[in-house]
Amino acid sequence: MSKKIVVLGGGISGLATAYWLHKEGFDVTVLEKNKEVGGAMETVLVEGNLFDRGPNSGLETTPVISKLVKDLKLDKELIYANQEGNKRYILRDNKLHALPMSPPAFFKTKLFSASAKMRLMLEPFIGRSKDGYYQSISQFVKRRLGQEFLDYAINPFVAGVYAGDPDRLSVYSAFPKLYELESKYGGLIIGTVRSIRERKKRAEVSKNHAKMFSFRNGMQILPKKIASELGERIQILADVESVVKSDNGYKITYNNAGDRKEIVSDYILSTLPAYVASNVFKGIDVKLSEHLDSIEYPPVMVLYLTYPIDKIKQPLDGFGFLIPKKEKKSFLGAIWSSVIFENRSTPKNASFTLFVGGARNPELFSLDKEIIIKKVLNEFHEIMGIEVEPSVKSYRYWSKAIPQYNVGYIEHERYCDKFEVENPGIFLSGNYRGGISVGDCLKNSELVFEKIKNHSQKV
Ligand SMILES: Cc1cc2nc3c(=O)[nH]c(=O)nc-3n(C[C@H](O)[C@H](O)[C@H](O)COP(=O)(O)OP(=O)(O)OC[C@H]3O[C@@H](n4cnc5c(N)ncnc54)[C@H](O)[C@@H]3O)c2cc1C
Repeated sequence: MSKKIVVLGGGISGLATAYWLHKEGFDVTVLEKNKEVGGAMETVLVEGNLFDRGPNSGLETTPVISKLVKDLKLDKELIYANQEGNKRYILRDNKLHALPMSPPAFFKTKLFSASAKMRLMLEPFIGRSKDGYYQSISQFVKRRLGQEFLDYAINPFVAGVYAGDPDRLSVYSAFPKLYELESKYGGLIIGTVRSIRERKKRAEVSKNHAKMFSFRNGMQILPKKIASELGERIQILADVESVVKSDNGYKITYNNAGDRKEIVSDYILSTLPAYVASNVFKGIDVKLSEHLDSIEYPPVMVLYLTYPIDKIKQPLDGFGFLIPKKEKKSFLGAIWSSVIFENRSTPKNASFTLFVGGARNPELFSLDKEIIIKKVLNEFHEIMGIEVEPSVKSYRYWSKAIPQYNVGYIEHERYCDKFEVENPGIFLSGNYRGGISVGDCLKNSELVFEKIKNHSQKV
């Protein structure tokens, strides 16, 4: 008889593992609260324009992604970023500076002062920190690369990835590869050179060199295609309320469009956001519930705008720009969506996706959304040389957007591991474990699949 597993949450983490388990012969049920699958991967059409309201792209850091895409017969939908996507800008003193991508460009750039460039040269001579796992990104980068590099490279980069605050994010948990360059090799420059060789052997690609992908009809096509393969094994509008131990496994209680329902299963894979899982597993482990509840999820507004191309003075030759905190703007940065991927705007128009708020500026949302948008538009127009109002404007407000792997996160990670050992058959996954990017979620989903498969073969 096939093993039964209930997957909680129909975002990419839950669906990918559910799909592989189903193919392995498990009897899978996915419970998803919303009426559509995908979670953060949400794509809509606004007046004929494609607006990715969550992730706009992923990085092909692992062969798992292309294998999955091929398996789902999504090859024809898969698209890669245009060449221009490699050029990224950073705002400094109200001007956009291209992020230098080669040593000669680094020495020429006006993004960093001469003293910041000199400071960077000292990096190979700086020893390891004694703070180990408990360092913030700011502490780590300031020590190794200096204050200006922190302010004008890392601060905006962290905003672009986590919508996060480098003073609070843990370098060990949020950027484990960066941490490893120091702990394993003794420094970032030497570590980068050596790790490239090792990665080649494992057929992995670093985030710096990985190809950026999306889909012709937006990112949500990936979870939707998995869902169509799983068919009636997915229950939508299934709001999971609790999981408790029962005589013959675990009992899941959920609310299905007003009806209270129960399922008993030996195996449960939770991919619920941490703050939801915190309530769901309270009856089994109060301490786990406290750990999960204390993970910060700041709010983010994603703003989508289009303009006629001939009304934009800034040359559109890059991925977009990020804004360092020191520049004191109301938004974190903008992706030039229609420059990077095809099918992102109507002819003769350009589309942009802006990110607002995050851990840097959560208090902004005490203001009315229209006031915030007005402030952001004024700043965006000044930077881009735009003197007209957007022809299309749409936004998505995520009240709890992305989990922040803050200093001390290792305690949550260790407790989740302990919980899984003490409660055999329950697996905790999702973007609060092992990385927030779509690529990391897929890599981890495959690891979790292997873990569940191995576990089921032992019992
Ligand atoms: C605004 C934004 C922009 C991003 N940009 C990028 C990017 O450009 N590139 C990139 O790689 N990553 C990006 N990310 C991160 C990435 O998209 C997410 O980390 C990833 O999609 C998370 O997938 P998940 O399945 O782990 O979680 P989720 O997508 O959060 O899925 C969890 C699922 O659980 C469901 N659920 C919640 N409560 C219940 C309940 N009680 N019962 C049943 N189901 C429930 C939810 O509805 C959801 O479907 C972005 C994220 C956001 C929010």
